[in-house]
Amino acid sequence: MMSRKDECRCEHMERVDRTLDDGLSYYYYQCPTCYRVEYPPCEAQKLLEYSKEHLFMYVDDWILLWLYVGDGAPVRGITKLQKDIFIVLMEFAQQNDIPSENPGFKAYKFGPYAGRIDRCIDTLTKMGFVTSYGRINTESERFFLTESGTEAASAISHKLTEDQLESLRNLRRDLQQFSVQGEMTYVYSHYPEYTDNSVVFERTLHRRRS
Ligand SMILES: [Zn+2]
Repeated sequence: MMSRKDECRCEHMERVDRTLDDGLSYYYYQCPTCYRVEYPPCEAQKLLEYSKEHLFMYVDDWILLWLYVGDGAPVRGITKLQKDIFIVLMEFAQQNDIPSENPGFKAYKFGPYAGRIDRCIDTLTKMGFVTSYGRINTESERFFLTESGTEAASAISHKLTEDQLESLRNLRRDLQQFSVQGEMTYVYSHYPEYTDNSVVFERTLHRRRS
């Protein structure tokens, strides 16, 4: 069990080897306890170079694109955003064969959760790409793209084909109709391994409005 005071020390990171369809191989380390993913600097650099010429989506690319295909509709709350990105990566990215950064989802009492997504949101906010209003870390919080965020997301959208973009737009429309509870029910029933009532992790305390 982890709390904020007693965070995982990630002492036994395990190496994960990945090979993309076109032959690019890379690896990262993942903690078997908290699922945090860490790239050795040389591997991170290799992926970054690769992503300039090839399709590879980082977590922040997906967040920007997800907000972009909502046509101005905000995402309602960080818990919903976490579930949305989970479904995008587990279903949309797989079905469309889009290589993507693994955010390191862990089973959590509110379903799958990745600290990486919270950190990306914070970074995108500091960069002025994403903004939110409403009480932070509650369902009343609303996430939007700013003008510069919309420009960045538009550039990312060109990485996908028109068909892929259209089906991502449809997925966003479908999930937009789910309440956070409805979406959690969906995730619980399709991905029971990502639900763990024994895990108490005060993760929302990590996000603060600067
Ligand atoms: Zn760990």
